[in-house]
Amino acid sequence: MAAKGDLLYAWSSDKKIQDKGECGGAVTQLLKYALENKIVDAVFAVKKGIDLYDAQPTLITDPKDLINTAGSLHCGSLLLSKLFKKYLDGANNMRIGVTLKGCDVMGMYELAKRKQINLDNVVMIGVNCGGTVSPILARKMIKDKFGVDPEKVHKEEIDKGQFIIEYEGGHKGISMDELEEAGYGRRSNCRRCKMKITRQADLACGNWGVIGDKAGNATFVEVCSEKGANLLNQAVAAGALMVENAPEKGVEIRTKTENAMLKLGDKWRKKDFSKLGEGNERLKKIVENTSRCIRCYSCIENCPICYCVECSTRKPYLVKPGEVPPNFMFHLIRFTHVADSCINCGQCEELCAMDIPLALYMHALQVDLEEMFGFKPGVDMTLPVLALVEEPTERKRLSDTGSDQIYDIFKK
Ligand code: FAD
Ligand code: SF4
Ligand code: SF4
Ligand code: SF4
Repeated sequence: MAAKGDLLYAWSSDKKIQDKGECGGAVTQLLKYALENKIVDAVFAVKKGIDLYDAQPTLITDPKDLINTAGSLHCGSLLLSKLFKKYLDGANNMRIGVTLKGCDVMGMYELAKRKQINLDNVVMIGVNCGGTVSPILARKMIKDKFGVDPEKVHKEEIDKGQFIIEYEGGHKGISMDELEEAGYGRRSNCRRCKMKITRQADLACGNWGVIGDKAGNATFVEVCSEKGANLLNQAVAAGALMVENAPEKGVEIRTKTENAMLKLGDKWRKKDFSKLGEGNERLKKIVENTSRCIRCYSCIENCPICYCVECSTRKPYLVKPGEVPPNFMFHLIRFTHVADSCINCGQCEELCAMDIPLALYMHALQVDLEEMFGFKPGVDMTLPVLALVEEPTERKRLSDTGSDQIYDIFKK
């Protein structure tokens, strides 16, 4: 019997799921088992749309449709957590099984602590994540760097630091470092991301550390909660899922890979943040760049931290209605509401109509705030920094000290 903390190799006992799955189909099998046995009412996962650049979220209630979600799509830049709030009533009226990348699961926690998602009704199957590529840039990269027509590509994967494609006539891999040096490769927020193994989910699944004859045919599973252990044990007892203990060497390789990815994240943070400068220089850059804003509200609509019913950016006494570009107050409001909890999911930047590097600005602020207060968003149910500031106390402190530096209240 598996228990919290166990490290296993797992694969589906269904040949079709095994073949269609990215690494033996354990994730699809676990979700199928949960749906068939009414542990959940529906599964929320991702399927290939018209082509491999079209990652589509899908809600499944018929277990036989789950096979369509097997496989990993790296050229999609979806975030599933905000969709839970927007379209699934925060899982309040339905038990849902879901596959989540690092940013997805972080968003689930930030929305749950704001009472927008009910995690008691969710079974979270996390997948390790080395990063995703924006679909538009992926097509351009395949054409320019691989010299291949993107329409002819039928499979892509990221393996051992390479972006690999299979296409009519062959396969080709180019190192991610080379692609990224040339301005292609993973989205910039993914390069800075340090949520590699989703241990805050119920199960954390991935291919790092799967070696020997199991490489490519099984998934490395870390059991992260009792809920995860129960699902896994039931699927194994029913003969749906096969498991064995992960070998020591595999565990070692997984740890080494995770650490190398964390170091790479640090390298990119240093590089990206240093370009922003500090203090007034940084502010000036942000003011200049956000002056392109056409006030489409996409950054607000898609951010998993923006959840207010009445958005302050729509209050006429704060931001003058109808003015384009909006006054800088528009951006300041969003920055102050979100900065302590930004999970660096990249949605605001990816979907900005004017290509303003919003995630970079917000992530840089979040990292500074994390250094000051020690609050790390998306990892557990700890409340964000701003939730700890009580308005009457803060007003009194402001009038007593004349200082607007809220973090002074934490100083002894
Ligand atoms: P399957 O049974 O094939 O199930 C895969 C599940 O992933 C399905 O539920 C599907 O809906 C979901 N999915 C597919 N694409 C997305 C997406 N874009 N966003 C959210 N969910 C999606 N493992 C590592 O060890 N290292 C990595 O660097 C790594 N990077 C990954 C990057 C991405 C974008 C994804 C989706 C996965 C990544 N994984 C990584 C996990 C790995 O590719 C396998 O998903 C994992 O080993 C499970 O394999 P499986 O055969 O059990 O999954
Ligand atoms: Fe993966 Fe992190 Fe990028 Fe999300 S932000 S897609 S978890 S690398
Ligand atoms: Fe994601 Fe941008 Fe919101 Fe940060 S501010 S959580 S990067 S959408
Ligand atoms: Fe402005 Fe970009 Fe936000 Fe749209 S997404 S409101 S253009 S900053």
